[in-house]
Amino acid sequence: MTTAITLNPLHEAHDEATHVERKTRLQAIEAALDTSGLRPELSTLPVIPATSAQLLAVHEQRLIDTIHWTASQDDVWFGMDTYTTRHTWEAARMSAGAAIAAVDAVATGRAHNAFALSRPPGHHATPSQPMGFCFFNNIAVAARHAFMHHGIARLAIIDFDVHHGNGTQDCFYDDSTVLFCSSHASPLYPGTGSEHEVGLEDGYGTTLNIPLPYRTGDMGFSMLYDQVIMPAVRRYRPEMILVSAGYDAHWDDPLGPLSLSISGYTAITQRLVALANELCNGKIVMILEGGYSLPALSGGVLASLRVLLGQAPAPDPLGPADTAEPDLTTVIRRILDRHPIF
Ligand SMILES: [Zn+2]
Repeated sequence: MTTAITLNPLHEAHDEATHVERKTRLQAIEAALDTSGLRPELSTLPVIPATSAQLLAVHEQRLIDTIHWTASQDDVWFGMDTYTTRHTWEAARMSAGAAIAAVDAVATGRAHNAFALSRPPGHHATPSQPMGFCFFNNIAVAARHAFMHHGIARLAIIDFDVHHGNGTQDCFYDDSTVLFCSSHASPLYPGTGSEHEVGLEDGYGTTLNIPLPYRTGDMGFSMLYDQVIMPAVRRYRPEMILVSAGYDAHWDDPLGPLSLSISGYTAITQRLVALANELCNGKIVMILEGGYSLPALSGGVLASLRVLLGQAPAPDPLGPADTAEPDLTTVIRRILDRHPIF
């Protein structure tokens, strides 16, 4: 049983010191891997940049050309929040390449499971638009690659980032070959992801959004996975599970209003790995999205990696949130009653 990781050797060139999505995020994860002693247990795979053909399977040529153009500019901002440097073009293609390499390893059986530890993140990038710190939708590019090169016919993408994965939803909204399932705080950026967004045409019923009240934490997520997400994925029966793994639903995150603990991330990852073992011969690939508290981000990633490795959880270094959780019974009942997948 091998657990693989992929890194992005070019990520440090996409950096803005005053921005929350900066190079210290991945540096903190790599430092935590070293001090935890986990690094030698993991197989670190080589990564090459995503090709134009791989990006074009998801994105419009115009978007690819725009990101390429930023390589000739000192800095460009898309909206108020999404910066580029002269090296973002290379870093973003490598980040998509890291997701592809992780999927390749698991699809071919070279690794049992994998985690792409890369940035810039991807789940807000739509086919035509960079946004929310994202340029190329890494998980969507990796999913299309799995369909085209590994003969996979059905994938589940589970997105537990605190923000709605609007870009990923847009990529597969009318496509029945992907079950896209996002849990996210509401109201919050980017404002999409209502429970009424359930997919269109061929994809009707294969988009599952679960907007969550503020301060939802470990207890709420356990209920949600046991009563909604796991039953939905069982109904769908994917051949592989991809995870948009954002750690900004942690109580210490400066952007996210939810209250997960690191132990809560362990519990979520345990459920996803159990689902993959039950339905997909263990094939699960996690792909890093957000997470802006460095201790919560690095601690959460280590917790997920321990689960992928089949190890017992370590003590939670940050402990639980000190606020009470809202009751999710009504939210869950409503989705079970109304969503077409049920
Ligand atoms: Zn996020």
